[in-house]
Amino acid sequence: MKTVIPAMLAGLSMLLGPTALAASTATQAWCDYLGKRLRSVSAEACHRQPFMASTTLTARGNPLVYVDHPANPAPPLEGPPRRVLVIGGIHGDELTSISIVFKWLDWIGEAEPARYHWRIIPLANPDGLKVRPSTRVNGNGVDLNRNFQTPDWDENAQAYWVKRTRKDPRRYPGEKSGSELETQWLQGHIDDFQPNLIISVHAPYNLLDYDGPVPKPLRFGRLSLNRLGVYPGSLGNYGGLHKRIPVITIELPNATAMPSQRDQRAMWDDMLVWMSDHVPQPVASSPTNTQPVAAPAQAATPLEPMTQEPMTQEPMTLEHAPGQGEPRESPPAAAPRDVPVAKEHAASEPIAD
Ligand SMILES: [Zn+2]
Repeated sequence: MKTVIPAMLAGLSMLLGPTALAASTATQAWCDYLGKRLRSVSAEACHRQPFMASTTLTARGNPLVYVDHPANPAPPLEGPPRRVLVIGGIHGDELTSISIVFKWLDWIGEAEPARYHWRIIPLANPDGLKVRPSTRVNGNGVDLNRNFQTPDWDENAQAYWVKRTRKDPRRYPGEKSGSELETQWLQGHIDDFQPNLIISVHAPYNLLDYDGPVPKPLRFGRLSLNRLGVYPGSLGNYGGLHKRIPVITIELPNATAMPSQRDQRAMWDDMLVWMSDHVPQPVASSPTNTQPVAAPAQAATPLEPMTQEPMTQEPMTLEHAPGQGEPRESPPAAAPRDVPVAKEHAASEPIAD
């Protein structure tokens, strides 16, 4: 028996091949990096998660990583569990948007969240995080949250970038829609997983935004609904309007300092109450668990008119001034923003994430 098990493992290893071994090594290195880079993230806790890494790599050679947490147990009377896709770190300089997703990973085994099937992507833009200083854009200089294949992209995205942002390099939408590997990979997850809710985490505008077909959330903890508007190529536009999947955008109050533990928990608890009431039940087809391929989705349904709602609130400017006693994501000397706060808000696009 002692010789059988190693032989079986060796056989399994051959079956899985170098891809699986490479993925394992890749996720370990990914966890080690995040444990060092983000004060709130534990590399050890990260290693315990069954993360999967893409075998195709970003422009700067980074894998894209996700983890699935199926419902446990799936309640038989409620039908198939509802599916929730969580995306953090689509802008690489929003460190708290990555850390809070790891916090949620600590909590999703609790009874209420365990009713859902979660797919978690803590860091959608590793190139942007890993360059120093970190950047909003990816390794090709593209804002991933302007690169989704929305029906209005070809007509509006470049013109919007030129006229409304005055060619702000932090908001460059790319040469064409879906040009970026990260965008294709995220769209592949939406097609493959068929989420009933998408939660996208950003910072530092301290608000909730929502796009989609069910009643909007009004308040999660200290965050209140304050619509950002819809932009060509944004995830809210792609998921909420084009795909008709509810998309919640959470804008944490600070890109480098986490909310207090109490605020984190209040936000999470309120979110679960809203989800229980409003996330639609899955319909007939069920998702696969295979890793999605980077298949660009084609625009198929007409887009609702853009809703550019006027802003009623000035953006927060707290990025480098965390409250006392709260954990910092980085020491003051290593401020991750690639432009000063004043410049961030000087663009003609007043708030846009
Ligand atoms: Zn953002």
